[in-house]
Amino acid sequence: MATKTAERPRTIKPPKVKDQPLFIGGKWQDSVSGKTFATTNPATGETICQVAEGDKADIELAVVAARKAFEQGPWGTMSARDRGVLVNRLADLIEENQEELAALESLDNGKPLRDSLAIDVPASVKCYRYYAGWADKIHGKTIPVDGPFFCYTRHEPLGVVGQIIPWNFPLLMQAWKWGPALATGCTIVLKPAEQTPLTALRVAALAQEAGIPDGVVNVVPGFGPTAGAALSGHKDVDKIAFTGEHTTGQIIMEAAARSNLKRVSLELGGKSPNVVFADADLDAAVDGAYFGLFFNQGQCCCAGSRLFVEDKVYDQVVEKLLKKAKSQKVGDPFDPETTQGPQVSQEQCDRVMGFIESGKKEGAKLLTGGKRVGERGYFIEPTVFTDVKDEMKIAREEIFGPVMNILRFKDVDEVIRRGNQTCFGLAAAVWTKDISKAHRLANGLRAGTVWINCYDVFDPAAPFGGFKMSGFGRELGEYALELYTEVKTVYVNLQ
Ligand code: ADP
Repeated sequence: MATKTAERPRTIKPPKVKDQPLFIGGKWQDSVSGKTFATTNPATGETICQVAEGDKADIELAVVAARKAFEQGPWGTMSARDRGVLVNRLADLIEENQEELAALESLDNGKPLRDSLAIDVPASVKCYRYYAGWADKIHGKTIPVDGPFFCYTRHEPLGVVGQIIPWNFPLLMQAWKWGPALATGCTIVLKPAEQTPLTALRVAALAQEAGIPDGVVNVVPGFGPTAGAALSGHKDVDKIAFTGEHTTGQIIMEAAARSNLKRVSLELGGKSPNVVFADADLDAAVDGAYFGLFFNQGQCCCAGSRLFVEDKVYDQVVEKLLKKAKSQKVGDPFDPETTQGPQVSQEQCDRVMGFIESGKKEGAKLLTGGKRVGERGYFIEPTVFTDVKDEMKIAREEIFGPVMNILRFKDVDEVIRRGNQTCFGLAAAVWTKDISKAHRLANGLRAGTVWINCYDVFDPAAPFGGFKMSGFGRELGEYALELYTEVKTVYVNLQ
């Protein structure tokens, strides 16, 4: 991800999409029940197409296919280097089809096409390439032990992994999950979010075209309490990786514990503090704060949703943010001028509007926005609240929408204390020219990522994940390899 939204792209039309089957064991098939569900264009509320609705029986078929591919197929005997070649080929194919994938992502999710093209697709390609490079570099250690023994460790693929992803970055979350799983030699059953199943299925087709053997990747769209629950509670799934709401994470962890103690990694929500000191480059801070909250229609787990501004520059920063919010173009994701698209669904739109009502009721000052835009689709005005207090609901709960909350603070210790007053710990940011102050905050804030004078900088080589109720396990970087491997210790008697 970059720190600025992309340049104006050339015009691309929304694609026509035919009804979609499931992808299991290298075959495209209907669901066992024959049921389908509609995936919706959030810009219009109209159905894009029907998608086969996976449930327990389909998850069963997918797990059997993934197990077979893990234990009997060519994947298990393929050299690690050749595995890397296939993952690189998948990256190349995604790149070759970038316009189609970006358009599909924008159609299904509502994000501006300029962002899908400049951020989601290239970041996904980079992620696959990064992990392709790891495939033949994953190895254990030789360990000096007492006695006449030679001791070494092997880092073996964990096995069949279940992956459940959300709707806010469908392509990218798939890449974050598939990259390390493929590099380590696991096989995969992916359940995309019911709101956005289209790009996952297209990438599955590209994986097949890249030569990734049948059964290594399986994609079963469906709903959380049915398909998702079947996957997280399956006895023959060795690990579940999940990104989504913390309450869903709790359900998944319980199911994982009860079924077979499968490994679990969770990347959950946040209520990230973004702290602007008076000595910061205020224009840069305002740009970063705006982007850090409103990017992707505010639908980011790491959104800087508590903007703490130092008392001395509070009015100045508020004024600049107001100007910025007013200059946005909310509308059709396929319009190259659009900077903010619709929320992903009616349900999310209603939820965000509920938070706006609560902010007004609890006495925050609505500086701008607060209303829906138009009657078609799920558009909400860029909304800014000032005079927000720590105890208000809008300052405590994850809104996941284009609603900025500005809080006032006076000194470093106070803002560290208040910044940490949350059950979450995904990300934080600080804007200042004072290097000591910046590091005091970086050390003091309990969050998995801290950005200093920037926001939303991501790289596939650098880990990402949460403290506290934002989850555990680190995705991306070398750290993510641990989530997909088991360590085996081997002793050899030398006598
Ligand atoms: P959101 O409310 O933003 O959609 P969720 O955490 O509910 O976030 O959804 C993220 C992913 O988790 C989706 O793929 C969804 O289908 C899945 N999911 C939801 N509920 C469950 C559940 N009970 N078990 C497994 N997966 C679930």
